[in-house]
Amino acid sequence: MREPIFQPLPDKPDHPGLEQEMLARWDAEGTFAKLREQNRGGPRFSFIDGPVTANRFSLGVHTAWGRTLKDVFQRYKALRGYEQRYQNGFDSQGLWIEVGVERELGLNSKREIEEFGLEEFARRCRDVVVRSSEALTRGSIRLGQWMDWGKDYFTFSDTNIEYVWRMLKVVHERDWLYMGHRSTEWCPRCGTSISQHELIGSYVDRADPSLYVRLPLLDRPGEHLVVWTTTPWTLPANVAAAVNPDAEYGRRKNGEWVASARYPNEELQDRRRGADLVGWTYRGPFDDLIAVDHRVIPWDDVSMNEGTGIVHIAPGCGTEDFELAQVHGLEVVQPVDESGRFYDSFGWLHGLSTTEAAEQIIGNLEEKGALVEAGLHEHRYPECWRCHTPLIFRIADDWFISVRVLRQQMLDANATVEWTPEYMGKRMDDWLRNMGDWNISRRRYYGLPLPFYPCACGHLNVIGSRRELEERAVSGLDQLEELRRPWIDRVPVRCAECGDPAERIKEVGDVWLDAGIVPFSTLGWQNDERVPEGYGTGAARGLTTADLPDRAYWENWFPADWVSEMREQIRLWFYSQLFMSVVLTGQAPFRRVLGYEKMLDETGREMHASWGNTIPAEDAFERMGADVMRWQFAAQPPDRNLLFGFGPADEVKRKLLTFWHSVKFFVDYANVAGFRPAWDGLEPEAAEPLDRWLVERTRAFVADAAAGYERWLAPDVMRDFEAYLDDLSNWYIRRSRRRFWDGHDAAAFATLWYALVQSLRVLAPILPFLTDHLWRVLILDGPESVHLAGWPEVAEPDRGLLGEIAAVRRVVELGRQARSTSGIKLRQPLKQMSVFGAPLAKGHELEIKEELRVKNIRFEQGSVAEVRLKPNLPVIGPRLGPKIPAIRTALERGQFEREDGYVVVEGERLSPDELIRERIPISEGWVVAADGDVSVELDPRLDDELVLEGEAYELIHRVNSLRKEQGLELTDRIVLVVPEALRGLIDVHGDWIEGEVLAVEVKYGEELKLERS
Ligand SMILES: [Zn+2]
Ligand SMILES: [Zn+2]
Repeated sequence: MREPIFQPLPDKPDHPGLEQEMLARWDAEGTFAKLREQNRGGPRFSFIDGPVTANRFSLGVHTAWGRTLKDVFQRYKALRGYEQRYQNGFDSQGLWIEVGVERELGLNSKREIEEFGLEEFARRCRDVVVRSSEALTRGSIRLGQWMDWGKDYFTFSDTNIEYVWRMLKVVHERDWLYMGHRSTEWCPRCGTSISQHELIGSYVDRADPSLYVRLPLLDRPGEHLVVWTTTPWTLPANVAAAVNPDAEYGRRKNGEWVASARYPNEELQDRRRGADLVGWTYRGPFDDLIAVDHRVIPWDDVSMNEGTGIVHIAPGCGTEDFELAQVHGLEVVQPVDESGRFYDSFGWLHGLSTTEAAEQIIGNLEEKGALVEAGLHEHRYPECWRCHTPLIFRIADDWFISVRVLRQQMLDANATVEWTPEYMGKRMDDWLRNMGDWNISRRRYYGLPLPFYPCACGHLNVIGSRRELEERAVSGLDQLEELRRPWIDRVPVRCAECGDPAERIKEVGDVWLDAGIVPFSTLGWQNDERVPEGYGTGAARGLTTADLPDRAYWENWFPADWVSEMREQIRLWFYSQLFMSVVLTGQAPFRRVLGYEKMLDETGREMHASWGNTIPAEDAFERMGADVMRWQFAAQPPDRNLLFGFGPADEVKRKLLTFWHSVKFFVDYANVAGFRPAWDGLEPEAAEPLDRWLVERTRAFVADAAAGYERWLAPDVMRDFEAYLDDLSNWYIRRSRRRFWDGHDAAAFATLWYALVQSLRVLAPILPFLTDHLWRVLILDGPESVHLAGWPEVAEPDRGLLGEIAAVRRVVELGRQARSTSGIKLRQPLKQMSVFGAPLAKGHELEIKEELRVKNIRFEQGSVAEVRLKPNLPVIGPRLGPKIPAIRTALERGQFEREDGYVVVEGERLSPDELIRERIPISEGWVVAADGDVSVELDPRLDDELVLEGEAYELIHRVNSLRKEQGLELTDRIVLVVPEALRGLIDVHGDWIEGEVLAVEVKYGEELKLERS
């Protein structure tokens, strides 16, 4: 047998197998490098990658989603000839990484980290980043993402750190940097404050103690205030009780003061306005531990919806409490230290955590007779997003950047950004309008060292670069391994004001400083000279060979044309980038953003390791393949949550199989026919109407898909592809089978080849493996990879012709529905049909007849078959019971009026849902099917001639099934043996049947069988 022209395809694709094979070929052939070389000097498309946190040791499917979208659009732009940056980024410092290392080492507090040693701790953190970045790179490559692996940026490089320093120095010069003394959400385990953007989404349902506590009034013997709290540990820090000055309060019989509104069924004595209680003094619940004065203060926000209407105020333990303390000059008592444990000054409470203290406090109150009531209270309460410890409030000195001046500038900059989906831009606006000053300091170790050196003389020194640090260092430079704790802490600088040595504050920076500076640090914003492989400094040394570009490069590539991340990045990476870019340049760092919602499991639940419903990307690669994952990701509308899983993957595989079979159909028959296409002759002549239609349909697909990509909406591309695939396989191939089968219709081969090749090019960005695999099957002398073939240039499609065939397909679909209503098999020919409301289909009578196996067809004027109205009994019955027969008759006789969508009959006004609209065929006894303004009527009556023809079709079908079962080749000729009973059928239709089943002879025998001739 001669060598086939096209490599034959198996019945179905082995996705993981062919993907591994493609990876190896891309590697061996240097496909990605060739692509970049090909596009060098082309128009620029600047993409900037948002860094992935390098703290996990395998790629998550969530991350794979984002990476797929990035890759899809970069690949699309590459097909369009754009020169691009392909730099991947790793977020490589901050609490995520610290917490992981702490866990690995079994360290449970900051004290234990310090005992372990900060140098070694820093090395362990770096080690996590190294291992994680290797694993994430492996996973991303397996996913098919084309990036400049090995030239990644790492946010812990000294380069990155220096650029954040520069930004902070600018902020300081503009007087926007300040140290705030305020109450802040605090994680006692991590020992640091939590900033506003870290809090969103961290509220969980919790049951906390609910206490009603009696506070004896000093000048009113026997009388008490009753306050309510859900945080017992804050009671020792109580300094005031707040009342609503406008609400009414009263005294219960037992002497307890409460708000009347909270005790509506009780007889209260001595009712007064809250304002009258203001100034009363009382004994605190723990005056034996700490001596402070306590009094009643007014507060308009005291709610009458819970508690007693009197609120316990502990300024050291709550934001509003702290603000009230400022207003009313109250003492601020801070009961717990950084790790959330009571200070020694709190007597028997000392060393207890806030949770441990709760029980002891409740017991103590009970002993003292101060506890009115204790229970549990369910509420939403914030916890630490990293370690899930419930947060507390502490007063802390944190470093802030004021957003007072920046807010409007950021809003203006955001107005220049094109957001997809659009509402995410509005979310950014909302965030910008409502965010507070940026709390940038964290009391941790493995993070950006804040370059703040306050001097005893009162001057704050802010260092803006490594060079400046070197110039002003007093000592310690020789051991400065990295710009990082602990080394940097040993380098004091000379104060610019007084010349004395000043020490760095111990705090590190919010990780979003690290990520937000990327459009500057990686593009060489303030770099005079390009330094080859110069980016990898400090901790990044040896991990990346990325260049440190120069200012000219930055000017070319900034701002980014496009960035894409999950919606939650609005208040994180998108925000921090925008913030820093507005500070440094006054403009937005990106022109367009594609955001997307969350990933859930296929049943719509959040994915959690502890629920056993997470899917590691490696499993997905093995069980579904990267292309199948990429299809799911690409097809997902970004404004909805993605339900990811193996169920949806099977759905995708089924669709992909249809495409695979279309290619296989071509390959099998083209090998038989000896069809050998040339890349030069890609555009077919297409003289046959059906061929011409497929060419136009393909052009339309290319144009529509391009529009989808240009809108940054891959789901639109996938929707177009599914419609195209349906037209290709269920119309073109099905209707053209015979032309391939008979073997010599070169025009059909050329047309189908064209369609397949062009659709591979359109899909290449989304399904890079499968398309390239099939490309190498179909292309004999063209570009070696679909990824090097460029975007297909096609002429404007003939939309008129496409409209006609769309109408034909609609008529055929309705015809099938009508047949199925009548219960007549599709193989049985029918005599006649009528088509209403589809004038565009009129020129294609022949196709419709063939498809529906109908002898005659009439195209009727008018839009629809007649509609008959009948009363909808279940709806109308209860209302109009006795009148129904009269209404029915009047409707049948057409004795009714239409009025604003209602029907008036027999004096009753009937709404649309009170009526059934029944389509009735115009011709008596015919069956009808309708969709909108198109309808089809079929005559289901059969005569002997039609029945015999139906039997012939039935026989052809059975024989062809047998051919398949017996494994005959497409071209094998047979001798057909039929039972004697079929002699009448063979006498009339013998020649036709022989031709259809490739029989050279018909014989008679016991039963139907066939023999190879
Ligand atoms: Zn924590
Ligand atoms: Zn000084």
